[in-house]
Amino acid sequence: MSKRTVVVTGGGAAGLMAAGQAAENGARVILLEKMKRPGRKICISGKGRCNISNSADIPDFINHFGSNGRFLRQAFAQFFTPELLSFFQVHGLPVTLERGGRYFPASGKAPDILKTFLRWLGTLNVDIRNNSAVKNISADSGKLRIHVSGQKDTICDAAILTTGGASYPATGSTGDGYRFAESLGHTVIPVRPALVPLEVQGGLHPDLAGLEVRNAEVRLIVNGRQEGKQFGELHFIKTGISGPIILTLSGLAVDSLQAGKEVHLSIDLKPALDRKKLDKRLIRDFQKRHKEIFSQVLRGLLPAQLIPFCLEQTGIAGETEAGQISKKQRKQLLNWLKGLQFTISGHRPFSEAIITAGGINLKEVNPRTMESKKQPGLYLAGEILDLNGDTGGYNLQAAFSTGWLAGRSAARSTKK
Ligand SMILES: Cc1cc2nc3c(=O)[nH]c(=O)nc-3n(C[C@H](O)[C@H](O)[C@H](O)COP(=O)(O)OP(=O)(O)OC[C@H]3O[C@@H](n4cnc5c(N)ncnc54)[C@H](O)[C@@H]3O)c2cc1C
Repeated sequence: MSKRTVVVTGGGAAGLMAAGQAAENGARVILLEKMKRPGRKICISGKGRCNISNSADIPDFINHFGSNGRFLRQAFAQFFTPELLSFFQVHGLPVTLERGGRYFPASGKAPDILKTFLRWLGTLNVDIRNNSAVKNISADSGKLRIHVSGQKDTICDAAILTTGGASYPATGSTGDGYRFAESLGHTVIPVRPALVPLEVQGGLHPDLAGLEVRNAEVRLIVNGRQEGKQFGELHFIKTGISGPIILTLSGLAVDSLQAGKEVHLSIDLKPALDRKKLDKRLIRDFQKRHKEIFSQVLRGLLPAQLIPFCLEQTGIAGETEAGQISKKQRKQLLNWLKGLQFTISGHRPFSEAIITAGGINLKEVNPRTMESKKQPGLYLAGEILDLNGDTGGYNLQAAFSTGWLAGRSAARSTKK
């Protein structure tokens, strides 16, 4: 019985896993990658350390993908975190668990993940063709025809599309796959940047750039209503506001902005103290240190970098003696500490978005196999799908799990 051919387009997390799985299940596998080498995004993931997964259980994991997360249930039932960890163990890559349930390679080096995959694919004789940008995929008498410019078309029994989303296009993920899928009858839910820094109306105050604030509570206000709340760390960057909690809220912010709604962030810099307790603390501090100037007393309350901004915004002169601060001024300060306001005017582009929201309509993909319901023999996996998770290893696990299932199904369905 001759082997049947599976062609994987796109050598990211999903494509590498799919290629290996298809080969392990008996297929002859060709992996087409448009860049000089596969896995560029893997190598920059997790700030170069690659947060491969999370210790959350399946229901919790699924919640991190919003309402579309349910689609992942079947893939996770077959290949989830324990299977991924044992995959890396079997292939000689120790993994470590860190704060927030996040798994990383123990070496702390993302390229070790890629090396592990390439070694595995080598042992399985997967034919990896770099510098091979697929231009078109078409149906051809029950088979699929893959066209790479300058090369002879490849005819295959199954094609796995793992071209990723449209974010960080310098890694090769330029959204090509959406067009291929559309030409085969799929619909694409409009793509937009997610896990992306937000821009502040009028630009960020230059004093703030580079400031990192821990233990803050941020509320996302849309048209005057609270639509999201996150506690943790945020970063002020030259172009706006970023950091884990802002990225988490960004999907909702981007969608609201695109719908023409007003978006604000309200930052509570002292979430551990309610207004009453914080007021008591201010009274105590101002009484105890009544001879010191206000800006000096603020050092006990705020990061030094925030103080000039606080003085400017509250209108309280820094040289005022703490004992001279009026009740009205104290209230102003209290309001500012509990609800520092920013009007959000936009978001950074795809080139700075960790992930792409939108993508191939999940209703058109069989979650048990990852096969297209529009084109037999076509499989889809990874970020190309209309799935976007929070930061914390969720997106890579989804890419590995859907890739695993697509590879296995594609090889099995093509067995004679
Ligand atoms: C800076 C950054 C940090 C991140 N950190 C994390 C993290 O720590 N943990 C986490 O879970 N997620 C993280 N993510 C998200 C995660 O990396 C992605 O969701 C995941 O890599 C998507 O995998 P994929 O295989 O679907 O697509 P991709 O990794 O985007 O791979 C797609 C591949 O297809 C190739 N390709 C595209 N078009 C064609 C074509 N026409 N022909 C041939 N090949 C083509 C591309 O060159 C690319 O190699 C991060 C993302 C970014 C940008």
